[in-house]
Amino acid sequence: MSMTLRGYAAFSAQQPLGPFAFERRALRDDDVAIDILYCGVCHSDLHHARNHWGRATYPMVPGHEIIGRVVEAGPSVTRFRAGDAVGVGCMVDSCGRCAACGEGLEQYCENHATYTYNGIDLRDGTTTYGGYSERIVVAQDFVLRVPPRLDLAGAAPLLCAGITTWSPLRHWQVGAGSKVAVVGLGGLGHMALKFAKALGADVTLFSRSADKEADARRLGADRIILSTDAAHMKANAGRFDLIVDTVPYAHDVNPYVPVLATGGTLVVVGYLGPLDPMLNSAPLVMNRKAVAGSLIGGIAETQEMLDFCAEHGIAADIELIRIQDIERAFARMAESDVKYRFVIDMASLKDVA
Ligand code: NAP
Ligand code: ZN
Repeated sequence: MSMTLRGYAAFSAQQPLGPFAFERRALRDDDVAIDILYCGVCHSDLHHARNHWGRATYPMVPGHEIIGRVVEAGPSVTRFRAGDAVGVGCMVDSCGRCAACGEGLEQYCENHATYTYNGIDLRDGTTTYGGYSERIVVAQDFVLRVPPRLDLAGAAPLLCAGITTWSPLRHWQVGAGSKVAVVGLGGLGHMALKFAKALGADVTLFSRSADKEADARRLGADRIILSTDAAHMKANAGRFDLIVDTVPYAHDVNPYVPVLATGGTLVVVGYLGPLDPMLNSAPLVMNRKAVAGSLIGGIAETQEMLDFCAEHGIAADIELIRIQDIERAFARMAESDVKYRFVIDMASLKDVA
């Protein structure tokens, strides 16, 4: 039987988020039902809720950094049982048949992965609702196991901010001796610093915010470069093998090309859209440099990242908030005032009328 649940939703791009009652489907054979304990607040939630990407459908229940406990499992579920601590990230399904799915790259599914919210369920055509709610129902293949040593609230942001930065670091084979830089110190940026450090790289942060230096060093940066300081940028010419760019809005990528080493790559994970000003290809061509993109990570890779975090004692630095404070969190995020991820304590939903 489907059940009616409490959640928080965006009702239009202009209105603040507010309480919303909605139905979750009855369990299919391969589904697990998860009581949500914590949900991280990603900048994508703000982009989606305010329709920055023009793809919003309302009402929308955001949230794709979900941690909870299994409360029920369908008859064919083999990997989970009631009581297990689990996570759900940005995807809840994919076709499972295409080449990308076959390689464990469900995020690049040729038939489009189903996003955790503002997506369309492949099997019944309904709209998906995310983690700003008390419970979620997900096919077991898209549920992650949370290793016992991980703090549950601090693990929530790993499901998006974590995997989105882990995946490019692994793809571009960052390891001991790699020279890695991260652009922007927010949710994604702070995880990128932690991972790059743990993988043995020499780590630099590019930021516009001089007051973030002490935090950046604590999080794993060996140095910080003010991206607004042209002389400092010039002094680092040819330095980096990989730059992970987490900036959420249109920005000038050209100043980062000279600081790449020959053969180096700048991977955009933050901004989706036309670069402004345009990218000049000449310095790329002259030194075989690349500007690339990367989307979250596959399910097996997400599990690998969670296991790595448990082994290395890595979790997100979080500010725990009540769901009632979500608009304040969005406002602070818009001002780059995030230390370094808001996580909603879903117990606060019980106080929603
Ligand atoms: P966040 O916590 O708000 O952090 C973004 C950081 O970027 C800010 O703290 C700020 O750092 C810097 N920044 C903000 N506005 C800027 C601007 N106009 N110009 C230059 N720098 C700016 O955001 P987040 O949650 O990390 O998300 C970052 C972006 O990644 C979002 O657009 C989100 O939608 C996207 N995202 C992509 C994927 C993917 O799969 N590719 C997955 C998740 C999220 P400083 O103060 O240090 O400059
Ligand atoms: Zn996200």
